Amino acid sequence: MERSSWIRRMFEIGLELRRERGAENVFDFSLGNPEVEPPAAVQDALRRVVSEARPHGHGYMPNAGFPEVRAAIARHLAGRTGLPFGGEDILMTNGAAGAINTVLKAVLDPGDEVIVLNPSFPEYRFYIENHGGRIVVVETDERFQPDIVAIAAAITPRTKALILNSPNNPTGAIYSAGILRQLDAVIPDSALVVSDEPYRPLTFDGLKPPETFGLLRRAVVAWSWSKAMAIPGERIGYLAIPPTLAEAPTLRNACTFASRILGFINAPAIWQRVVARVPDAVVDVAGYQKKRDLLCDALNAMGYDAPRPQGSFYVFPRTPLADDVAFIRLLQSEGILAVPGVGFGRSGYMRLSLTISEDDLVRSLPGFERAIGRALRL
Ligand code: PLP
Repeated sequence: MERSSWIRRMFEIGLELRRERGAENVFDFSLGNPEVEPPAAVQDALRRVVSEARPHGHGYMPNAGFPEVRAAIARHLAGRTGLPFGGEDILMTNGAAGAINTVLKAVLDPGDEVIVLNPSFPEYRFYIENHGGRIVVVETDERFQPDIVAIAAAITPRTKALILNSPNNPTGAIYSAGILRQLDAVIPDSALVVSDEPYRPLTFDGLKPPETFGLLRRAVVAWSWSKAMAIPGERIGYLAIPPTLAEAPTLRNACTFASRILGFINAPAIWQRVVARVPDAVVDVAGYQKKRDLLCDALNAMGYDAPRPQGSFYVFPRTPLADDVAFIRLLQSEGILAVPGVGFGRSGYMRLSLTISEDDLVRSLPGFERAIGRALRL
């Protein structure tokens, strides 16, 4: 609770600060809620889907989703990865959160272990514990890349899964192909890699994350359009189980059943049809990149250590005080809301979300400068 509640706590502190200082004097870097509108192609597809009267268009459907939608997503995925995906390999889900909960429910027995690479999205712990699993935390290296030796040492006969997230929340790191190949070599056949990929299309400087399926023979992918299309409230994603996994037929059935009994039943009908038409539509990443450059350049010039993220829409600088919570309080007194690294399992850092408007970002900079000055005098 302590870790997961940081983002929520910032939300409440934000309400209070807005009352005290006026909304225009509060600079909120704490939320991962896209501020941009969905791409025009998505809005057009939505209008078309809604206007096409379809008998029983809002009814229950097969739990894994509309067969024609699953087939369209499989064709798209096969085109991207070169693997022979068919519709049966795709389970439409309620976002990445729905996909991860579904696969963990399907594979975990009480006491089974799931490896999570730190720092990490705080909800993973709860997803794992929801299904009787035990989280095993392994630290990443100084560049936030997986530490293969530490992962190998953490694997036991009870290890059922490892959760990967690249591009990463909160660090913005993209895992290299070389690292994924090394990881593949240490993952036993008794475990799955659950690759959580809501940020895959959000990369900077033309970088392309390596294809998970080609590199990790034990991978399933939890995909979501929440961030790519700026539609997190619509809850649409999928779980892809590659046909190359020996247990694919059983795992598909188990996941379809798990998705039902978890109460997801099926992914939203209208949004399944929308994403099947424009699976590649992505918000304007150049806007995030411009804000990344503005923020990192300004912070580094002030004396912060703020490496440029390779992807996602988060910056993860060191806090000038080792006590990140104390520094976050200093920022609050300047009207700036950020999430302390401890909320992601790594003290001494803070997460700044680039979903803030460019205008607010620019107006927040004097506050960052005063805060580091005050921290250095403490
Ligand atoms: N995984 C990570 C790393 C996230 O940051 C989020 C949301 O912020 C999710 C999963 C959940 O995404 P979704 O909205 O697709 O369920």
